[in-house]
Amino acid sequence: MSSAGAPPVVPTHSSYAETDLKYQHKFTIAWASILGFFLLISFPRLYASTRSGIAFKGFFGISESWDAKQYHALSVSRKTARKGGRIEAILNKASSMLWWTLPGAGVNVGQLLFLGGYIALVVSCIVVDASLVKNANRAGRIALAQLPIVFLFATKNSALSLLLGPGNGYEKLNLVHKWAGRGIFLGCVIHGSLWIKNHLDTETPILGQDKETTGIAAFALLCIIVLTSVLPVRRWFYGAFYNLHIVTFVAFFITVCYHTPEAVPWIFPALAFYGLDILLRMLRLRIKDALLVPCDKQMTLIHVQDCTDGWTAGQHIRLRVFSSGRVLESHPFSLLTAPPETTCVTAFPQGVNLGVRVMGDWTKALNDYATQTVEVLRKQEDEACLDEKKQVAMTSVELAGASKRAAFNAPPPEVPVQVMIDGPYGGCSIDLGRYENVLLFAGGAGATFTLGLLDDIVGRCVKLGRRNGEVTKRIEFAWCIRSFGAIDWFAPALMDIATMAASASSDLSLHISVYVTCLCNPEAVPPIPNCDVTIVRPSIYRVLIDLVTPPTGLASSSYNDIQEIPRLPSETADNGRPVMVATQTSSATDGKDETEVDVVFDPSVRNRLPWIGLGGGLAVCASGPESLTREASNAVARLQLVSGVRDLGIVGLHTEVFAL
Ligand SMILES: Cc1cc2nc3c(=O)[nH]c(=O)nc-3n(C[C@H](O)[C@H](O)[C@H](O)COP(=O)(O)OP(=O)(O)OC[C@H]3O[C@@H](n4cnc5c(N)ncnc54)[C@H](O)[C@@H]3O)c2cc1C
Repeated sequence: MSSAGAPPVVPTHSSYAETDLKYQHKFTIAWASILGFFLLISFPRLYASTRSGIAFKGFFGISESWDAKQYHALSVSRKTARKGGRIEAILNKASSMLWWTLPGAGVNVGQLLFLGGYIALVVSCIVVDASLVKNANRAGRIALAQLPIVFLFATKNSALSLLLGPGNGYEKLNLVHKWAGRGIFLGCVIHGSLWIKNHLDTETPILGQDKETTGIAAFALLCIIVLTSVLPVRRWFYGAFYNLHIVTFVAFFITVCYHTPEAVPWIFPALAFYGLDILLRMLRLRIKDALLVPCDKQMTLIHVQDCTDGWTAGQHIRLRVFSSGRVLESHPFSLLTAPPETTCVTAFPQGVNLGVRVMGDWTKALNDYATQTVEVLRKQEDEACLDEKKQVAMTSVELAGASKRAAFNAPPPEVPVQVMIDGPYGGCSIDLGRYENVLLFAGGAGATFTLGLLDDIVGRCVKLGRRNGEVTKRIEFAWCIRSFGAIDWFAPALMDIATMAASASSDLSLHISVYVTCLCNPEAVPPIPNCDVTIVRPSIYRVLIDLVTPPTGLASSSYNDIQEIPRLPSETADNGRPVMVATQTSSATDGKDETEVDVVFDPSVRNRLPWIGLGGGLAVCASGPESLTREASNAVARLQLVSGVRDLGIVGLHTEVFAL
């Protein structure tokens, strides 16, 4: 066998290296230009939101306002969905086709095209003008050039979120972070495997020399990052995934710098983005007093005190609680009510209110802590009350009565805690005030997001008297839950909002549909105005079609006439509670696919809301599990496909997935 000779030398100053460097720069210019294009088309929204004071609201975090300033809506009525011209309607219809989402894909057609383009850019920069077999460095260089992208789109406090305008929080940008990470992995696999092949061909030892050993070590660390980022690990071991992600990236950076000095210039921008994130986070962190209210074993309400400014409806914060034994974890939760100057909710304290649904370890520990502490507090109160009564020598019957009274008169069960809040982040990408028709559709705890938006739009239209030119006329608030008891979680807030919408001064029509998928305890339904409770999980498409269909009896020729038809009030029983409509149903559950739950169900929204004609635009916001938001996207895309070009006016869609 012939001698293997020395391992191949990396041609740093060769023509290969020059060409590689050129393509590394070309790649950087290409992605920066694409980003510039998106920033350019987002500029009008950024400008509008800056003028209305929304864009940078919360930049320094949530605060307490001493003089309540007036709230300005994002749209400020510069352009309503009805005023959009034919070209805008055609563009809107065409772009809504990009909302189609395939089951299991997790991305819609628009995102798929974007990501396909990104991977094509990566691959072409790796292979064009490259002799990869002789010199595998191009792939490694393109991997390095993606490091700034990975960090720019990963950080929670990124300049991009601000510049792209409301609704482009880290949770939306994270998709690019994931795919740029996969792009790095692809580059490293090509680079590493071709060098290993090269070594095998020349019979050179793969480990031993510094260059090779650090290369293999860096690749092993990258494999750890990739393996611990797969969905099941993220879903079941989120904390481990998150911490490993950070630790392994630091180790990867150190190793890759030993592997090649070419890595250093690409690591600095990445570190700068991360440093900015940490700095902004420091500015936005707040430690506050809060009250935990356990509604039942599934829901804990959190009222955070002295937080009355610096956020808008639809945003979320990341929360850490200092008492439930899991201080190290922070979790995202949507702001349940609108800011104080807009909110219609009087049942909850003014400021930050959160609804935390029991999902796993952390949320369960919080609920258990709140429930147990409430029990202890109640016991102590009862004992104190009975001790006092004993002193005035009561009979046993009187004592039993006193105990009951003490329980009855007890203040609402609240557990004081300290919390750390980080944010606000995200938000709704569409302004509901631009659209005459609005559908808010939520599954389970997803209602925290839609409830905040509902509170905001009702407050702006009724409480603030449409001072920013809001045009919203009809709102359908649909909420799918598993059991009747869940209605109680947000019933006080819903009652306040529905009462405001039904008040004499209101020219806004709100209908609430609660869809329950379990036949237990219907007596628990609270008396919310203009609310129907149905034992079925409908398809979102049917609800949408129903919302844009004139009431029974109205001739189809008058579909687009602006003629007000008074709504039929929802049926109520003698006790003022909504009447239950039991409908033939399949075994539907929260968040199931449209196809799985296409049940015999005729929604009655069209008869509950006044008909105002079409053309004024339709806004759809859906929140909850990914299957539900996917169904909503597909329903809107399908509706756009079957409706004429200007039938509905401009259609807006925002979806909020309650998982990262
Ligand atoms: C933008 C956003 C807003 C949300 N708003 C609300 C809300 O208002 N009310 C509500 O009840 N729930 C909300 N959620 C969901 C909530 O954050 C999770 O249910 C909660 O973090 C689960 O924690 P756990 O440890 O109890 O459950 P686990 O079983 O440990 O986790 C359940 C799921 O939650 C996700 N998750 C776990 N830990 C985190 C974390 N630290 N950060 C992000 N996701 C995590 C994982 O994907 C996992 O699959 C929201 C989620 C997001 C992304």
